[in-house]
Amino acid sequence: MTAERIPGAPARRRLVVVGSGIAGLYSALLAAEAGADVVLLSKGALADSNTFFAQGGISAVLDEPAPGDTVAAHITDTLKAGAGHCNEEAVRVLCTEARLDIMGLERFGVRFDTDDDGDPALGLEAAHSAPRILHTGGDATGAGVANALILTVLDAQDAGKIQVLGHVQATSLIQSEGRVTGVEFLRNGRFESVFGDAVLLATGGAGQLFAQTTNPSVATADGLALAWRAGAELADLEFFQFHPTSMVLPAAGGPTPLGADPLLISEAVRGEGAILVDANGKRFMPGYHPDAELAPRDVVSRSIALHLASLGDPNGHVFLDARVVEANKGEGFLEKRFPTLSARTREAGIDWTLEPVPVAPAAHYWMGGVVTDLHGRTSVPGLLAAGEVACTGVQGANRLASNSLLEGLVFGRRAVEGFLGWAPPNGGVTDSPVPSAPALRSHAGERLASSAAGVDLHATTALSGTTEPAGPLSWQPELVPEPFSRTALRRLMTAKAGVLRTGGLLREAVEALDAWVDVVLPENVPDSADPRVHEDANLLLAAQLLVQAAASRRGPLGAHYRSDAVETQREEIVQRYTTRRKASLVND
Ligand SMILES: Cc1cc2nc3c(=O)[nH]c(=O)nc-3n(C[C@H](O)[C@H](O)[C@H](O)COP(=O)(O)OP(=O)(O)OC[C@H]3O[C@@H](n4cnc5c(N)ncnc54)[C@H](O)[C@@H]3O)c2cc1C
Repeated sequence: MTAERIPGAPARRRLVVVGSGIAGLYSALLAAEAGADVVLLSKGALADSNTFFAQGGISAVLDEPAPGDTVAAHITDTLKAGAGHCNEEAVRVLCTEARLDIMGLERFGVRFDTDDDGDPALGLEAAHSAPRILHTGGDATGAGVANALILTVLDAQDAGKIQVLGHVQATSLIQSEGRVTGVEFLRNGRFESVFGDAVLLATGGAGQLFAQTTNPSVATADGLALAWRAGAELADLEFFQFHPTSMVLPAAGGPTPLGADPLLISEAVRGEGAILVDANGKRFMPGYHPDAELAPRDVVSRSIALHLASLGDPNGHVFLDARVVEANKGEGFLEKRFPTLSARTREAGIDWTLEPVPVAPAAHYWMGGVVTDLHGRTSVPGLLAAGEVACTGVQGANRLASNSLLEGLVFGRRAVEGFLGWAPPNGGVTDSPVPSAPALRSHAGERLASSAAGVDLHATTALSGTTEPAGPLSWQPELVPEPFSRTALRRLMTAKAGVLRTGGLLREAVEALDAWVDVVLPENVPDSADPRVHEDANLLLAAQLLVQAAASRRGPLGAHYRSDAVETQREEIVQRYTTRRKASLVND
């Protein structure tokens, strides 16, 4: 497909948008509204996205905020959650402009829940200092937002303003003279292409990198891999947020996620008194943190991972026992307080009033991604990125709850503004959100510097937030080398580069990943017409890049946790002793 222009008519600039989550749908609508020629590609149905599964809501300080709330407070909360790793200018933009895009969503048909006075009902979430979470359908915000935007996009399609290509998978970016000029994609087993003045990647995250994830099956790091192969800079890939309690279903060979039907079990259930127990029925959280099940999210994730590892089952699961809630608060309480979760667990064959629910920490949100400026521009001309695939620096080392849908909105709009020429043409002093970590540069065709020798094996900082019950890191069993499969990759990433990381585990991950690259060729675009083959290559490439970034960051920061402090301290003592002896020999 080429950009067809009617002879004599003024040329309309064409924006090719890849992805139909909040960032893609909203950007496509704004660009079409401004008169651009828009083509929207999505690899599944339009609703197949992380966005659809979002529960809590969207954070925003409105014109009439909750008493005492301010944009400055939202900025402070975001910076704090990001563990000092955020781009402050990007955070300021995010929080200041939020209200603009909430109005934008309403214009496109999203109806937020209201209180008895008809004002927006504002929820309070962890680490927010005031109620500022807008939601739809109670805890079904993603579905509410996605459905409204999809209907508006379909209307725009009927009006000839947006061309929607569903069930097509972008496989590579087309470049000419250093610019991205289009996208190659697979449709019904055949390669086709679409050209435009710019391509906006809005392909979301990559939860499918890990054995347990809250993300649906479309989250396979495609956009990140496409951008990397086109030479774009990436950053902050070591920061992946894990949610502690995602339901898993036991299957042959170990637990599997619900795949396209993930179920995140909200912290509120633990808030009501549910406890975590292991396969022996033993409650273990009090041994890890004084606040037990109510410890911060990342601490609970780490504790579960440590406990599973200490049992020799890093890919295993524990159980969330909510029976105690029902016993304490009366029969029918769970059904009344958590109707959606009650229904969803029942659908999965579990009556949580009678039996514990199998849960495990699950890959939830990737803070890192394709580096952009404040108008979605990547380091490659013609290539824009917005939403979870992008790294604007707003999420820092750890995302503040309900800030990711907002990021897709604010920076999706700004990307469109940049495309339309409303934004300053170059970075400019206030428009250059260079992430606070050095970006990973990619050069198409150059092999990844990920050999085991290149990986750092020593962490330097102490354990934080969790008490590690076992001594040294003798708890991770060897994973037997096996041929590449997506399942093997995901198990490897969970066991070696998931919630708990050490230099040794990361080195093992590198070795295992390196053993697969000659078979899967992650740096090349596969010439196969099988969409899954492309996803596998993208996942393997993303895994290599993540592990490389994780190995380079020696100490824990935000969601990146290096648990080898004990081991490291011992190694450091040995090293220091050895060095001194050598020095004294020279002096002698
Ligand atoms: C269970 C769950 C609950 C969450 N709750 C919240 C919440 O309450 N608040 C909040 O702010 N955030 C929440 N998040 C995070 C948030 O949902 C995501 O970060 C956000 O929706 C990402 O939006 P996006 O538009 O960038 O990507 P997505 O919504 O993931 O959309 C990506 C799109 O790209 C398409 N795509 C991918 N690869 C290709 C390809 N090769 N070719 C064509 N199309 C492709 C996909 O099919 C999809 O349509 C939650 C996430 C999950 C999983």
